[in-house]
Parts: sequence; structure tokens; C-alpha cells
Amino acid sequence: MTGFEDVFKAKMNEEARCPICALVEDREFTVLSHLQYEVTHDRDVRSAIVNEGGFCVYHFRQFRKLANSETNARLLTDLVSEYLRRGERIPIHCRVCIALDAYEQSLCEATAHFLESEAGRSVFDEGAGLCLNHQGNVSSAFGDPTLRRWLNESQNHRMQQDLPALEAMMNHSYFDSTRSQRSAIPRCVERFVGRKALGL
Ligand SMILES: [Zn+2]
Ligand SMILES: [Zn+2]
Repeated sequence: MTGFEDVFKAKMNEEARCPICALVEDREFTVLSHLQYEVTHDRDVRSAIVNEGGFCVYHFRQFRKLANSETNARLLTDLVSEYLRRGERIPIHCRVCIALDAYEQSLCEATAHFLESEAGRSVFDEGAGLCLNHQGNVSSAFGDPTLRRWLNESQNHRMQQDLPALEAMMNHSYFDSTRSQRSAIPRCVERFVGRKALGL
């Protein structure tokens, strides 16, 4: 992946979150933006999406928020009509998920390659780390078990750092906690489940 290191570093500086999640989310936004245009203007695309059963739960939510009511109504009119015609559910093969899968995998592999270098690891140590899903993918892309251990320790260290803020908030109301303490909540949730924790 050309220029991956620069993109990866820029993403880590720009957003204090898993850079792979952030990059996939950018691509997801582009895919959904094209789709909402196509759904509005192209009957064939609409019909193909209907035959795929629409989108998965997550991408249906994203699409619904991103597209206006006219576009949503066009897609849903076709989907509802086809459902009534068939008299049964259409199995879902979400084209957004399919469009992102290969990209996400290539990002995990490029990240593993980047972290094989000492310089890559020191850049990574300054950042917010990976979500656990992507940690698993990157870890299994490493050939060297020493790197797997290093990644695990680097990640666990960040989790340790969030504990004091979480513990402090257990005994305070939301308004008595600081902004920096509160930021530990979305950060930890996203670390456990990845980008879909935040969504649009
Ligand atoms: Zn992630
Ligand atoms: Zn999907």
C-alpha cells in the first residue's frame, strides 16, 4: 500500500483512536455517499440492493442517517414491495461490508508491516493504539511472536492508563467529572468493539 506510513501517522495525530478504524470509517463514508447518489438516480442499483436484502443493521442505520428521506423512501419502497411479492425475507449480503472487507484486511497487513520496524513501533507507542478487533488481526499478521508480545504490552499499557479516570468517575456524577476523564468512556468502548461503537 503506497504512502501507507504517512497516512497511518497522519491518522494517529489527527484522531486519538484506532487508526485502522478511522481509515475504514473514511472509506465507509465514501462508499455510503456514492451509494446514496446511486440509490437516488439508478434503478438498477436499487434493484440490486433489494436483491441483496438491503444492508446489514449497522449500514442500514448509517445509510438512513446519511441519505435524505426521498432516497430512503425510494430504496424502502422497492425493498418493501419485493418483500411483499416474495412473501419472505431476502437474505442479507451487505455490499458496504463487502466493499470494506478487503480494504480493512489490507490495512491490517500494512500496519503489521509498519510495526515490524523500530521506527514504526515508536510512532505507534505515541498514539492511541488499536481496537481489540484490529489488534487481533494485526497480531496474527506478525510472523514473529516477539512482536505479538510487544503489541499486547503496548495495548495493555493504554488500558491501564484509562483505569484511574474510570475509577474516579464511579463515585461522581457526570457533571463533577472532567472532560478528560469522560473521554475514557468512548475510548474504552471503541477499544473493545471498534468503530461501530461510535458510528455516524
Ligand atoms: Zn480498530
Ligand atoms: Zn454492512
